[in-house]
Amino acid sequence: MPLYVEVAISHIPRLFHYRIPASLEAVSLELGARLLVPLGTRVQIAYFVRSIDQTDIENIKDVLEIIDTTSPLPPLLIKLLQWISDYYLAPIGSVMKAAFPQKSQYKVTTAGVIKPPKQLKEKLSQAGLDALQSAGVVTPPLPLNLDQQHVYNEISAAIEKGGFSPFLLHGVTGSGKTEVYLQVIQKALEHHKGAIVLVPEIGLTPQLVARFGNRFGDKIAVLHSKLTPKQRYEAWQKIKNKEASIAIGARSALFAPMASVGVIIVDEEHDASYKQEESVRYHARDAAIVYARLLGAVVVLGSATPSLESFYNGTIGKYKTCSLPNRVEERPMPKIEMIDLRERASWVKPFLTQRLIFAIEKRLELHEQVILFINRRGHTPSLLCGDCGQKWQCGNCAVSLTFHKKEKKLLCHYCGFQQASPTDCVNCKGTRLLFLGVGTEQVEEEIRTLFPLARVLRMDRDTTSKKGAHHKIVTAMEEKEADILIGTQMVAKGHDFPWVTLAGIVCADFSLNFPDFRSSERTFQLLAQVAGRTGRGALLGEVLIQTFQPEHELFCVIPAFKPFYNTEMGYRKDANYPPFTRLILLGLSHKKEEEAEKKSEQLASILKKNKSSIEVLGPAPAPITRLRNEYRYQILLKGKDHLLLKSVLKKGLDIFLEKPQRALRLTIDIDPQNLI
Ligand SMILES: [Zn+2]
Ligand SMILES: [Zn+2]
Repeated sequence: MPLYVEVAISHIPRLFHYRIPASLEAVSLELGARLLVPLGTRVQIAYFVRSIDQTDIENIKDVLEIIDTTSPLPPLLIKLLQWISDYYLAPIGSVMKAAFPQKSQYKVTTAGVIKPPKQLKEKLSQAGLDALQSAGVVTPPLPLNLDQQHVYNEISAAIEKGGFSPFLLHGVTGSGKTEVYLQVIQKALEHHKGAIVLVPEIGLTPQLVARFGNRFGDKIAVLHSKLTPKQRYEAWQKIKNKEASIAIGARSALFAPMASVGVIIVDEEHDASYKQEESVRYHARDAAIVYARLLGAVVVLGSATPSLESFYNGTIGKYKTCSLPNRVEERPMPKIEMIDLRERASWVKPFLTQRLIFAIEKRLELHEQVILFINRRGHTPSLLCGDCGQKWQCGNCAVSLTFHKKEKKLLCHYCGFQQASPTDCVNCKGTRLLFLGVGTEQVEEEIRTLFPLARVLRMDRDTTSKKGAHHKIVTAMEEKEADILIGTQMVAKGHDFPWVTLAGIVCADFSLNFPDFRSSERTFQLLAQVAGRTGRGALLGEVLIQTFQPEHELFCVIPAFKPFYNTEMGYRKDANYPPFTRLILLGLSHKKEEEAEKKSEQLASILKKNKSSIEVLGPAPAPITRLRNEYRYQILLKGKDHLLLKSVLKKGLDIFLEKPQRALRLTIDIDPQNLI
């Protein structure tokens, strides 16, 4: 047994050396085993990386305690975590930490470690989701139609055969993807293998989770961020102890400590929430593919609106594409109609046209339901003085403040800054204040005046912040206790309301004008998903899209994916953007603007000295130039060869970081999903 160990600690990029004292000797440690070590004045959990025979560190400190000699995680999961650390350039300690149920699982005090509470059996599977209350009532599989049967046969053959096999399941909204998932999982269980199911933002998809609960009962463990540390620990233990063979949850459910995984399902694989945007910036869908390869397992990426990257991988044969081109029970796709917002004469109220109002009226008469989608919460997105042009911006960020009428406040949606809504201008004392644009709160207000007898609900971050609030809204829609649901992208997420026959998109332009090369793709996905919420029952659906640019090519093809894909890929190719190239986005922020700019220029000029094919773009101010009191700059690295890209970056950073850059915040985003 060597005397020294190399360990990783939480978010710190470098590794540390410690001595194993005689009192703790004679144990062999495995990668990822947890130790308790002193760091500065504190005691920290450290993850064992390797044993070493010698170290040149003077006054080396002792390991205080060995929490476990083997990692509680399966070996292939440890391999995945190592890959994440290497690929995303994230400290291994941070990645390890992300894979454990909760940092407070072990309480660390100077006196030592306090062990986690004993598992409470009766609480298992009570994962906090009301949706799972019916767990135990197991519903039988539904008959598959021909398309579903065909897809099921292909995927289940791959499970039977064993080995790595990636599928893209491209099924239009309402085509019955979930039933295919359920039966594929059943197949894996029959082969004594488990399943990991990733869903975007689990709290927003209670109906989907309920379907899994109804089919598999307490074989399921649900992992999501709304669980208390104890519930999360229990769900994690349930998987580890093989009491649960299906783990379902948001991106971190990929780290479920499952011994034998037969299939990984990534539902709505295009969803932006699969990319973690803080701490370890990994993409759970991409990591799922890597994990399936390590495991020799089947992975199914499902979507009605696949990401361009995944669809492209299907066309070049990296993934096997399966399609469900039709809705179940031969239900037709909804009829789509564009409404030109430039014809102001047609506006009955701000952003509500005669045509849309008339359509809502008709649905109410028929006792059917309506969904209205608007991509902004609050009453009005910006405020302007009609006399001097003064704008109201956040004091900490370069963004306009949103007017929230009910709270009589102006709010920053980025940093939470708020102030009382003004009655006159700070600059000229004028009282002619102009409220520009439209948000969910305003649409709700106008709809209530226009239809005083209708039962109106709103679903956005403001109305769903309380526990159970989201579930209440979904239930009211299901039980037909509401007529009109107004909401942000939350309403687009996988809900299945059979009585919704009209989806109205109040203004389709907002996300389209975003300064990001993915804005068309995002808009297409969002609108196609909202459109997909209608006509899911026996009744025919209708979609009305209001826009200032009805001639935009995106609106001409929606919701057909293929023509959109072909056009968009043309643009991506011309501009050399993914999937034709790889990107790394460097973000530099500093409290002082001139420092942020100077440091960015320094780093960019170092990177630009590379003699390879790697392009270095920038530095340029980020689209949001100031956020939470820090000035932001960006550098974009572009290149076809990912390894070359990273080696250029690493060499550049080595030189740049020779001098400590204390006040500078540097973020490295590999395969960035957002360029803001
Ligand atoms: Zn003014
Ligand atoms: Zn702000």
